[in-house]
Amino acid sequence: MVLAEAAAFAQQAAASGRNIVTRFAPSPNGYLHLGHAYAAIAAHDFARAGGGRFLLRIEDIDGSRSRREYADAIVEDLQWLGLGWDGDVIFQSTRSESYAAALERLKDKGLVYPCICTRKDIAAALKKQPARHGPDGPVYPGTCRHRDIDLAQPHCWRLDMARAIKQAGQQSWFDLAAGLQRGDPALFGDIVLWRKDAPASYHLAATLDDAGDGITHIVRGMDLFAYSGLHRLLQQLLDLPEPAWWHHPLIVDEQGDKLAKSRKSASLRSIRASGMDGFAFAVSLRNGELPLGMTLSKA
Ligand code: GLU
Repeated sequence: MVLAEAAAFAQQAAASGRNIVTRFAPSPNGYLHLGHAYAAIAAHDFARAGGGRFLLRIEDIDGSRSRREYADAIVEDLQWLGLGWDGDVIFQSTRSESYAAALERLKDKGLVYPCICTRKDIAAALKKQPARHGPDGPVYPGTCRHRDIDLAQPHCWRLDMARAIKQAGQQSWFDLAAGLQRGDPALFGDIVLWRKDAPASYHLAATLDDAGDGITHIVRGMDLFAYSGLHRLLQQLLDLPEPAWWHHPLIVDEQGDKLAKSRKSASLRSIRASGMDGFAFAVSLRNGELPLGMTLSKA
């Protein structure tokens, strides 16, 4: 049995003759919850229904938050759900060189700049200058954009968004459920692509990996919808192939809030500990049978 919506989109995608490759890409900074189970099922079933490949990529780029025990738990939880992946488990932490090479390319193109601002500096600058709000909160005010920065100081690298958009030109991206989208990455401002305390940001690493892993269809939750225009921009700047996306509905609680890793009650571990059979549980999720108070939200 596969998730009906995933099967419908996969058949549509397979009809184009493309060999489908999808992925589930969790961050190992907590135990997986019901929402992750749904995301993994969606990506897995999409690939299986379309005769394609399904990859498991552990996004452990952030060494301060990632823990090996959570990565191990992800593997166990997916096995419990009866979801098998193709090939070895991929770990982002082994790919820093490819992220660094991409950053160099963006430096050569003059599209990134070093930034030494601390959180405090940014908060102070935003107090003086009213902030524009982007999908991730107040937009960086550009303090370091034209500053001469001594690279011996701890610094991150930010994308010069205005230049990047100018170079990439008009962009659009395609979501199987929502149709053709006009990318609007300007909303995010000068995002961090390379962090002070860790290698590449999620945006850079995920975009490079999706291309490197040959992902044809990025299947992930609606909560990441706004990021896709940004990722499309990075693909254009780095001459990467264009995938299609399917942002699936999210499981939300009684308040309409999406589930969070901190809510232990919804963790797959706790459901498993209650003696539930994982395979049967995955079948009930595919049937839209959710625990009391939870619903699927398309918004
Ligand atoms: N690692 C991200 C997360 O756990 C998901 C990234 C993605 O699917 O693009 O939220």
